[in-house]
Amino acid sequence: MNHFEYIDDELHCEDVAVKDIAGQVGTPFYLYSKATLGRHFQVFDGSFSVPHITCFATKSCSNIAILNLFASLGGGADIVSGGELFRALKAGMDPKKIVYSGVGKGRDELKYGLESGILMFNVESEQELDALQEVAAGLGVKAPVSFRVNPDVDPKTHAYISTGLAKNKFGVPIAEALEVYKRAMAMANIEVVGVSCHIGSQLIDVSPFVESLAKVKNFIQRLQGAGCAITYLDLGGGLGITYDDEEPPAPLDYARALEEELGDLGCTLILEPGRVIVGNAGILVTKVLYTKQGGKKFTIVDAGMNDLARPSLYDAYHAILPVEERGQGRELGDVVGPICETGDFLARDKQVPVSKQDDLLAVMSAGAYGFTMSSNYNTRPRVAEVLVDGTKFHVIRQRETLEMMIAGEMIPEK
Ligand SMILES: *Cc1c(COP(=O)(O)O)cnc(C)c1O
Repeated sequence: MNHFEYIDDELHCEDVAVKDIAGQVGTPFYLYSKATLGRHFQVFDGSFSVPHITCFATKSCSNIAILNLFASLGGGADIVSGGELFRALKAGMDPKKIVYSGVGKGRDELKYGLESGILMFNVESEQELDALQEVAAGLGVKAPVSFRVNPDVDPKTHAYISTGLAKNKFGVPIAEALEVYKRAMAMANIEVVGVSCHIGSQLIDVSPFVESLAKVKNFIQRLQGAGCAITYLDLGGGLGITYDDEEPPAPLDYARALEEELGDLGCTLILEPGRVIVGNAGILVTKVLYTKQGGKKFTIVDAGMNDLARPSLYDAYHAILPVEERGQGRELGDVVGPICETGDFLARDKQVPVSKQDDLLAVMSAGAYGFTMSSNYNTRPRVAEVLVDGTKFHVIRQRETLEMMIAGEMIPEK
């Protein structure tokens, strides 16, 4: 459920006409609905009845206004860099609800996490464990650690977003993990607190989640047998959404399936949803610059692959809707951006709205991995982000200026 709807043939976000925002902010821009964000967070979080913390996957949509909203609803953050830690803290997240994932955390980042007092580090290798021990010893503190185990489960999603297979770079193989835990338990500045896993993204079936939980649960029981008490079980994120005709499980079905498999293990669950919370809570609004008929029909818009990478990167589908519905109909063709790459498209060989110059188009389901994956490629300023709240809208990130883009560059003196 989301709050992007036509009222009198004009696309609205909650009570605000998208066209009116475009008139004031210019295009392109990302547009989020606060009501949708809040509802998705609460439905997800409220689906679990066991003790848990919902740590929003910051990388999916990291604007501090949005992180602040989730913090106010009791949420925490799953972070994957020192930069995301900085954001989460600026947004008012409780450090005791921040978990730090990622295969390549630098020593400076480990130090920053320790100094901030985060809940735990999801460690992904023995060398990272050694580095963390050293950094924690230097600070005279104990580092709370959970290992990310790799359960070798096929999530049946796009190869680029599968992470829990033995051939993926993530985690410690579950078969070797017991030895690693034993080593960690003997370290002076490490406190083992959890086990974590994250098998992939955009999963549209619960069975890989359940299969992975079964393996991790079995592992936790072995750990307990070896005298290692586990406080937190982090099940990662990955629940999919409807972009086109996918039928992912509802959060409640996902939660029930997990809780049933979990039984009475006695751990606090950590969940790291990203896409399922924000994906359908945001859109990208773009303007038609030109149309032309080449070998096929091209609609050239002012947003490109630097603004929304998913179609180019994963051949991902995003529905494209007209902001003003005038009965213009649909036609087969491409919606492309201004970037000098053939791979620069938002829709390819799809039924897209028949458009004319200056029409506004809405690229739907763009809230997750949209703005956060954007870049300055072709020296294009990153776009504005706007949050609608009922009848009002707020610019939550200003459009970059040309000066901002080159602010850190310098020509060496001769
Ligand atoms: C990306 C990621 C997530 C979020 O995945 P979604 O599919 O957006 O829910 C959660 N945990 C980790 C460790 C991740 O890398």
